Amino acid sequence: MPDKILTVDNISKNFGGVKALSGVSTEIERGTIHSIIGPNGSGKTTLINVITGFYKPESGAILFNGEHMEGLKPHIIARKGIGRTFQNLRLFDSMTAEENIIVAMEKDMKETLWGAFVNSPSIRNIEKSAKEKAHIILKRLEIEDFADRPVAMLPYGTRRLIEIGRALGLNPEILILDEPVAGMNPAESENLMRIIKLLVEEQKITTILIEHDMKVVMNYSDEITVINNGKLIARGVPKDIQSNPVVIQAYLGTGRAGSQGIKEETDASIKN
Ligand code: ADP
Ligand code: MG
Repeated sequence: MPDKILTVDNISKNFGGVKALSGVSTEIERGTIHSIIGPNGSGKTTLINVITGFYKPESGAILFNGEHMEGLKPHIIARKGIGRTFQNLRLFDSMTAEENIIVAMEKDMKETLWGAFVNSPSIRNIEKSAKEKAHIILKRLEIEDFADRPVAMLPYGTRRLIEIGRALGLNPEILILDEPVAGMNPAESENLMRIIKLLVEEQKITTILIEHDMKVVMNYSDEITVINNGKLIARGVPKDIQSNPVVIQAYLGTGRAGSQGIKEETDASIKN
């Protein structure tokens, strides 16, 4: 039986006169990779910002495990189990990889710290457990060798992984990645997606992926939601999405060299 972890129900969001989202609905199945695609400016990032509480929608509902999220603050939604990364990296450059992950867990630690005064284990233990947890995360992302290196010195692909590590610090049930492979070379991009797939399969973390790279989208998604001009235009499995005339038209309609190729690129990726 299908098990929906997240329901987006009839969401609308305006910016002044711009209807960034108009009545968008979709559903995300637990334990899957679900991509949200659409031409530039179609509303993908806005939808993520609504799901994660950064924007309040004019109307509609977001249900996470059946519980309403709309109107809740971003840090509350993050604590409830929806983690995210941003389109632009938000790391502390002078800190090490490990410190960046620990800082992201800090809120949780402060609560534990309060608990510690009540239950009286030492603060050292809490620091130790934060370090241990960061180490597990770094290992899972296959970047434990970089734990003590300042992130400014690290390659772009590794920095992207550290940002995912920060989101994992709060034990998310859903991980939302906004264009995670943008700017990566093919090897880095392949490596990141392999690791994401492991997180989904082994840690049972549902992943919502916003991505321009159609090869990545078609190869890794279980299901795809397509939006164009703030409206839902299609939802389905990769095979159906790439041959959907409405989707192809939406990409062709943008007249952008980079996004024209949904058909060609996806045809190619199936052959490859
Ligand atoms: P995508 O991520 O699909 O490229 P966005 O969600 O960023 O698209 O943008 C959708 C539309 O909403 C665009 O027209 C964009 O200019 C507008 N928009 C997004 N964020 C804001 C904002 N904070 N203020 C005003 N307009 C915005
Ligand atoms: Mg965007």
